[in-house]
Amino acid sequence: MILKNKHVVVVGLARTGVAASKFLVSRGAKVTVTDLKKKTELSSFIKDLSDLKRIKYVLGSHPIKTLLKADFIIVSPGVPTNIPLLEAARKNKMPVLSEVEFASQYIRCPIIAITGTNGKTTTTMIVGKMFLNAQKKVFIGGNIGTPLTYMLLSKEKFEVVVCEVSSFQLENIEKFHPKASIILNLTPDHMDRHSPEEYWKMKGRIFENQTIKDFLILNAGDERVKTYETIAKSQIYYFGFERLTPKQEGVYFKNGKFCMKLKGSEKETYSADKLKLKGDHNKENFMAAILVGKLLKCKPEAIQKTIDEFQAVPHRLEFVKTAGYVDFYNDSKATNVHSVAKSLQSFEKPLVLIMGGKDTDQNFEMLRSLVQEHVKILIITGEAKEKINRAIGDYSETYVVGTFEEAIFMAYQKSRAGDVILFSPGCKSFDAFKNFEERGDRFKEMIRDI
Ligand code: ADP
Repeated sequence: MILKNKHVVVVGLARTGVAASKFLVSRGAKVTVTDLKKKTELSSFIKDLSDLKRIKYVLGSHPIKTLLKADFIIVSPGVPTNIPLLEAARKNKMPVLSEVEFASQYIRCPIIAITGTNGKTTTTMIVGKMFLNAQKKVFIGGNIGTPLTYMLLSKEKFEVVVCEVSSFQLENIEKFHPKASIILNLTPDHMDRHSPEEYWKMKGRIFENQTIKDFLILNAGDERVKTYETIAKSQIYYFGFERLTPKQEGVYFKNGKFCMKLKGSEKETYSADKLKLKGDHNKENFMAAILVGKLLKCKPEAIQKTIDEFQAVPHRLEFVKTAGYVDFYNDSKATNVHSVAKSLQSFEKPLVLIMGGKDTDQNFEMLRSLVQEHVKILIITGEAKEKINRAIGDYSETYVVGTFEEAIFMAYQKSRAGDVILFSPGCKSFDAFKNFEERGDRFKEMIRDI
């Protein structure tokens, strides 16, 4: 797409807005940046763009007149796609592009795109590490926090892009065309914005522009994910715990080994003896990563090295320390009940579980049997505490406490040698923290003193 003298509206000015604006200006476009926040709240980002002449700011609101003269719009990942400004643009047939769509139009190397309800960041990091181990120049970005446009601003020549994509980003694509796409799993999420049917469709857009030359990697054990096989034009590969069916090619896990079932590599296996990440869900993430690594020609040594050395991504079932014979795990990123369920299943030792945070209409009842089976003591705090207590409080020894700090102290006080203290909130963090990272960091800071 030629950008010279094009009028582009960038909606949302944080890191993505800055990166997109810089690239647009470097290609001669005229940029208007709009954000609901006021100038004072955005000063660091505005400062970052202060050298650039051709940028206009519309801050504090999104007036529809911002669209006058615009050729197209780029939306940052955090911006809801149903805001009046974007609805008005669509009504006027003005293209609304997510940042990954926009950036991908200028990327010439293969893109590996990863989506799913849970496990996106972990899998993106594993795949990224695998290609690094394979001595490839890899750019890791997208929903993971580094805008893809950063790659366009860099002077480095990248050989492969590993891109985490959310359903929101997929909502605004047109030509986004990954060489390989991974769909990890699908459980109802973001229901405030999508019905289950819409959510399924949105995630499926990851392979919408793929052809028979491209790869689509699906979770064989997830019934909803498997249904994509009927509509994709791509070559489909599978991963799963069950042995794959005779017709399916891919990777499965058996007797402590990741096993290849690909033409020409039938006997290839990778040992999971040194795997550091806990839980079957992480084995699924590895299976997907190994498969894409293999399909895109990573050497077996690079794949095994990644399995042996990869450490948990912070805040995802992250081992923090052992104190008084008790292990502490920070799982602050577990913001929905499905993640909590996976985490509970990952431990054999008795759990002292800390839950709670912002209530976002979660079905906590689905945790009942897992709590009964794995949790010795449950400590609940935050805005959702009463709701969680009503749903699962009767299924273990339970305490409802006022603050996050109290919850951590009580967990340690109640724990005994051999227990695991797991902070897996099952809720968003916005009742008391800026984001899940701040919440997880606070947890780690508190237990550092124990
Ligand atoms: P995402 O980027 O999709 O939010 P993360 O890798 O950040 O995923 O992991 C978030 C949480 O989801 C983790 O704390 C873990 O509990 C859970 N999780 C990770 N991988 C999987 C998976 N493959 N299936 C189900 N849950 C998972």
